[in-house]
Amino acid sequence: MSEILSSKKRFSFGLWESHSASIITSFCFLFIILAYLARINDYLFLEIVLFLLAYIVGGYQKAVEGLNTLFKEKDLDVDLLMVIAAIGAAAIGYWMDGAILIFIFSLSGTLEGYTMERTNKDIRSILDLRPEKAVLLRDGKQVAINAEELKKDDILVKPGERIAADGIIFQGYSAIYQATITGESVPVDKTINDKVFAGTVNGYGAIEVKVTKLAEETMLSKIIHLVQEAKNEKPPNQLFVEKFEGIYAKTVVLTAIVLMIAPPFIIGWSWEETIYRAMIFLVVASPCALVSSIMPAILSAISKASRERVLFKGGTHLQNIADVKAVVFDKTGTLTYGEPVVQDIISFEGTTEMELLKITASIEALSEHPIARSVVQYAINNDLELEHSTNLRSFKGLGVEGTLNGISYKVGKKEILNNIVLTKEQENLALKFEQQGRTIIFVSNEQSLLGIISIFDQVRLEAKSVIKQLKNMNIRVALLTGDNEVTAKNIGENAGIEEIYSGLLPEDKVDFIKKMTAKYGKVAMVGDGINDAPALAAASVGIAMGAAGTDIAIETADVVLMADNIEKIPFAISLGKRTNRIIKQNVVFAIGVALILIVLNFIGGIINLPEGVVGHEGSTVLVILSGLRLLR
Ligand code: AMP
Repeated sequence: MSEILSSKKRFSFGLWESHSASIITSFCFLFIILAYLARINDYLFLEIVLFLLAYIVGGYQKAVEGLNTLFKEKDLDVDLLMVIAAIGAAAIGYWMDGAILIFIFSLSGTLEGYTMERTNKDIRSILDLRPEKAVLLRDGKQVAINAEELKKDDILVKPGERIAADGIIFQGYSAIYQATITGESVPVDKTINDKVFAGTVNGYGAIEVKVTKLAEETMLSKIIHLVQEAKNEKPPNQLFVEKFEGIYAKTVVLTAIVLMIAPPFIIGWSWEETIYRAMIFLVVASPCALVSSIMPAILSAISKASRERVLFKGGTHLQNIADVKAVVFDKTGTLTYGEPVVQDIISFEGTTEMELLKITASIEALSEHPIARSVVQYAINNDLELEHSTNLRSFKGLGVEGTLNGISYKVGKKEILNNIVLTKEQENLALKFEQQGRTIIFVSNEQSLLGIISIFDQVRLEAKSVIKQLKNMNIRVALLTGDNEVTAKNIGENAGIEEIYSGLLPEDKVDFIKKMTAKYGKVAMVGDGINDAPALAAASVGIAMGAAGTDIAIETADVVLMADNIEKIPFAISLGKRTNRIIKQNVVFAIGVALILIVLNFIGGIINLPEGVVGHEGSTVLVILSGLRLLR
């Protein structure tokens, strides 16, 4: 909790900072106007005093920061360059020019603070969703306590408006609005044993919720934490620019010193002209705009994405996703709903269908696989009582083995059956189901095949349009699955994917991603983050979807889609592309303006200090504003 509280404090500090920055900038502007009025009315002393005030108000903080960098880190930064240039201008009598420099510099700082503040505001708005109070059942009585004091296994009653903790429904049913977590605007029906999240809103139903997570471990806290971390992570190009800034600033200062001394001897400029031109050089050659080209854009994009509940773990991933050449989908739970339903039960060898179902479900009861859960659910729906199986062994990507009443059974793909040979009819039957896109599980004891069960997991309604959008963006789309070829092909074709790779074990998926990366460039892998963790980690960008409720997904992926919806993938890629485009434009613009101003300053002295300042600081303000466009 302390972590969240302290971050809340930090954000309010950010708000205060950005307010105070705009007050400082406004006062600086006011003093310049007053000084100007004093000048045109010939109050010379007053004019100088007012200009001094403008310098002090607008430049004090920058000077302190610049000196700190100089003495503590033994480095030069642009803050100090600006202050030196302004003081230099004043020293040779150009008070107004120096003051304008200070003012615009302060204005661009304020704008930059505003970008930060916008991102923080988005996070604060998530923080505000955390419920403060909870009503719970203790010793048969209802008591209200602070949500922070909730403990595991407490029972929340009438969770009313906002649910106070992550937990599972213990009693009752209701429609829950989960927009806070997943961004979905439609309520989700939930009942006993379903998970609910802190910060989501209960509809009309009366439910009792058993708390499963402490306040600081809730999904909401995780989202907040993730967005905060993402903001602090700087992508490689930003780190490069920052490293470059120090070297560049030193070069500019050295060049300015040379320019302050050489011209009178070489081209016969007057000393005043020389120093003035050197000051202009100091201003226009400073890399302010370049330094502001990247982070405001990245922060705006991360902020925009988090409002859509697409969580980027940092600017690097935002930039990587822009360049993906291929998107690889896992099948189960990603391209399909991941809720397979039993379709057919065919039993052989004197076993009845219900017996087959009971045996299979009893073995599968210990497995976490979605197929296993669907078989168990189907058995329960048919009022079968499951028996206690033992010795469960799971063969990743193949199936499971277990013992029931002293007999060993195998449940899964054909490959798990070892030496049992299928008859022609059994083969044909399996093929027929597979051609319909169903997954077949074979059930055998040590001697023979007892039967087959077919299962169908529906392709997501939105899959087709998402795949089409990706293809229109010139991105290759592929499907990876552990399922067999015929089923995979049916599902893939239904979604509009031609590149299908089936029968893969988890480690094959990793190899596959590596090969694709070598062949095409950056590859994004979309998976549920539980079975696919290694493949997600191997991809250039690992995208976990439906991450609400699964901690592993949030930990392994680079990009987390909170909702169980693949429609956010084209959005995330487009956002990355727009961000990169804006950054490129900014960098070219920043360098271009600096070069033009440097040239204009020296060729015939076409520009004066105010124009240099406006050109230079104006370009800084423009690149920041350009980055802010991504918030829209
Ligand atoms: P996976 O890569 O985990 O999706 O598994 C690939 C294939 O292995 C599935 O499509 C099933 O045919 C089979 N399989 C894996 N686990 C199980 C299980 N617990 N029960 C039945 N079949 C399974």
